[in-house]
Amino acid sequence: MKTSVISTDILIIGGGSAGIMAALRSKEANPDQRVVVFEKGHMKYSGCIPRGMDALNIVTVPGVATPEDYVDDAVLGCDGVLDEGPSYEMAKRSWPLMQKLIEWGVNFPKYDGEYEVVKAHAKKGYTVTMKEPNLKTILYERLQKTDCIVLNRTMALELIVEDGRMAGAIGMNIRTGEIIICNAKAVIVSSGGCARFGLPPNGYLYGVYDCPANTGDGYNLAYRAGAELTGLEYTLHYYIIKDISSPLLYITLTRGAQLLNAFDERLDFGHPSIKSIIKEHTDGKGYSRIRMSHLSEEKIKSIEDILFTTEKPACERFFEGRGINFRESDIELGPTETYLCGGHGITGIVVNEKAEASIPGLYAAGDVANVGRGHLSGAFVFGEIAAETATEYVKTVSNELADSTGYVDTIKEKIEKWQNTEAEVSIEEFEYKTRRLIGEFLTAPKNEYKLNRGIETMQGMQKELFKKIRVNRVHDLVKAFEVESIISCGILSATASKERKESRWGSWHYRSDYPNKDDSNFQKLLIVKKDENTRLPSVTLRDPQKVLNIGENFEGRVSVHE
Ligand SMILES: Cc1cc2nc3c(=O)[nH]c(=O)nc-3n(C[C@H](O)[C@H](O)[C@H](O)COP(=O)(O)OP(=O)(O)OC[C@H]3O[C@@H](n4cnc5c(N)ncnc54)[C@H](O)[C@@H]3O)c2cc1C
Repeated sequence: MKTSVISTDILIIGGGSAGIMAALRSKEANPDQRVVVFEKGHMKYSGCIPRGMDALNIVTVPGVATPEDYVDDAVLGCDGVLDEGPSYEMAKRSWPLMQKLIEWGVNFPKYDGEYEVVKAHAKKGYTVTMKEPNLKTILYERLQKTDCIVLNRTMALELIVEDGRMAGAIGMNIRTGEIIICNAKAVIVSSGGCARFGLPPNGYLYGVYDCPANTGDGYNLAYRAGAELTGLEYTLHYYIIKDISSPLLYITLTRGAQLLNAFDERLDFGHPSIKSIIKEHTDGKGYSRIRMSHLSEEKIKSIEDILFTTEKPACERFFEGRGINFRESDIELGPTETYLCGGHGITGIVVNEKAEASIPGLYAAGDVANVGRGHLSGAFVFGEIAAETATEYVKTVSNELADSTGYVDTIKEKIEKWQNTEAEVSIEEFEYKTRRLIGEFLTAPKNEYKLNRGIETMQGMQKELFKKIRVNRVHDLVKAFEVESIISCGILSATASKERKESRWGSWHYRSDYPNKDDSNFQKLLIVKKDENTRLPSVTLRDPQKVLNIGENFEGRVSVHE
């Protein structure tokens, strides 16, 4: 296996929404600094926005809502467990960000001279319609005009820490297996959440809602490096188009569609939350459906236009294949797999309003960070903030290269173990079993017994991963590293879930042994960190950071979103 060594000022891990924005901003902030991106796929189409997106979910449009309104709504949506600082910062920068995107050619359509702002939160509207099938391409082409070095098909495997600060990362080319040691003064982790966590009901390993390349690598890189994480017990699932796992609620309900349960009872009055729709399902009243047959041809066409071009173009073939025409047939919805995410949920590397994680030189942005439920706005704004803070930081750091020998040796030892030709289980089968067990033991309804079994089982899988699987080629090796990450996410999530001895966030953290919410003890963030002595995850509780002193009465409603 070939090994290469490179050096940079800023290394960005993950070239999706947050990563590409971090790269662009780093070059804007200081065109002379060196910027390298490790991207597991190809940056032009990678991540949650392989093509376009139909809305920028959080923008405080002047005259419609203020950043303070947003923090109020966000705290409410997170049931009180949210650091206000980062969300406030995101909201303050959301409108300037939108103006910047417009300048770059991103289309936010106006109707009667106004942007369309949709209410998907409990109190005010922040979701601005965007009609841009080429969003990622626009950003990618801009980046190509800089001298930023993008290493496509490169998966980060380990962060390098030297003298208590970030010193780079080790990556691997996912086609050739080449090991790349990247010395860096600052590292921005933007590798998304853990999309491949539970198994989707459609049974396909990659048939998940979120980007399937995201296997919680960033959570583990940061955890192993000694950084703080939070929200790991927030085991999220959505309710979207059954079998293809594509969003639909926001696009259709805001345009007059009806939402019905299996008994044909309408659920679209008022403000149906994801939580309430999932409850219908668990109460035996699923599958819920979206009905559009009463809508005008013009409305249906506008919905098709968004769904088939910007949101998930594969939907067109999917509905064609099933003979579903929105004018006549309902669209079946269903629950997604369970996953971990800082953009839809609150799982992430702990960052402050400057995107700084708890290790000097480490920054996080997007779904890997805990800027709770920030969606694309969070990814873009925090990509920019991370770049700005890192740019200032690298000016203070010397050019000395770290000793990465130990890290490379550990990676090579793992690879050697996986070259055991006696092993028989394919990595796909192994992943299937791991994720089935995550569904069995780690997702709600949770209880102490199941969570203990979950930890024990995941620890067992961690050992078996190096004994039982067959690795024939680099592709298998990449998947083996991904499964290692999924298993670690499982252990971290179960450990946090065990400590949260209450129920919160509806079915996302329901403990049958502690069925009630306990604000006095648990309206807190659970901070998970590697204990340097035991090498096991330790959990501590801390109060959410308050900057605006938002009210205390949470009715527990969550927003519709996508
Ligand atoms: C289907 C869908 C629809 C959505 N619709 C909307 C919407 O309309 N409006 C809105 O505001 N938000 C929306 N969101 C949310 C929003 O898209 C995400 O919050 C945001 O894009 C996350 O950006 P990110 O950079 O954190 O992750 P991503 O964009 O997923 O990027 C992560 C990148 O990291 C790479 N990667 C992973 N592991 C590694 C590794 N080990 N080494 C190197 N690279 C790695 C991946 O290949 C990927 O390119 C939607 C999300 C989904 C899934």
